Amino acid sequence: MSASLPPCSSPPSVSLQDERSVLSVNQLKTWQKCRKKYLYDYVHQLHWPTDPSNFRLGRDIHKLLDYQSRGLDCRVLLQDLESDTKSCWETLMASPFPHFPVIANEWGFQLPVSSAYLIGRIDRIARHPDTGEIWIIDWKTGTGVPKFPESDWQTMVYSAAVIAAYQDLELPDLSPKDACFAYVEVKETVRDIVIPLDTRVYEHFIHQIETTVSEIQSASEYPLPESCPDHYCPYESICGIRVKSP
Ligand code: SF4
Repeated sequence: MSASLPPCSSPPSVSLQDERSVLSVNQLKTWQKCRKKYLYDYVHQLHWPTDPSNFRLGRDIHKLLDYQSRGLDCRVLLQDLESDTKSCWETLMASPFPHFPVIANEWGFQLPVSSAYLIGRIDRIARHPDTGEIWIIDWKTGTGVPKFPESDWQTMVYSAAVIAAYQDLELPDLSPKDACFAYVEVKETVRDIVIPLDTRVYEHFIHQIETTVSEIQSASEYPLPESCPDHYCPYESICGIRVKSP
């Protein structure tokens, strides 16, 4: 019998000390992609139903990685999981990345930027066993690596959150150049796409984040883009893009 594991811990709860608004990486991505979609998703809060089976593989691998980070033997769980989960897990475990010493796993953060908190949960923060470099890791088991990983919002926000929290992570002596962001993609083989960080890159990320948060917070109009950037968007029949670019 096949089973699936429960999801990893829920998004970080935010106990606000002030009146700042709360934004996620997905909000920044949607804002950049299509402001009309942002209006529907985050201003009107139209929550379009999604099929949870689309996320099963990623959810199960992330849960296994959570157990593995605590030193638990996951082999006993594999017999009850789907064959693609077993195969993905075995491929990933044959690579060096899940075996880097773990600093934090499923690390929830609240990054204060301008008048907002950016919130999220980072798959893993680990230390490279040879170089001592801090790796901020995002496992890609279901979805692909972003087309432009150096400037993706996930790269920028997650990197900024870790560097800003060095003290909390008990890494006070590190500087931005001691870290990198890494997408670890698992398909037939495992591929790592590494983005090195330094002070200039960190300041650029913070500037990009602050500028966009400020744009979102002062927005009063949500225009359509010149052409639709998302052919799977559920709002195509109502947003007006068919009239604009038939
Ligand atoms: S269908 Fe395209 S243009 Fe319309 S809201 Fe969605 S992403 Fe934007």
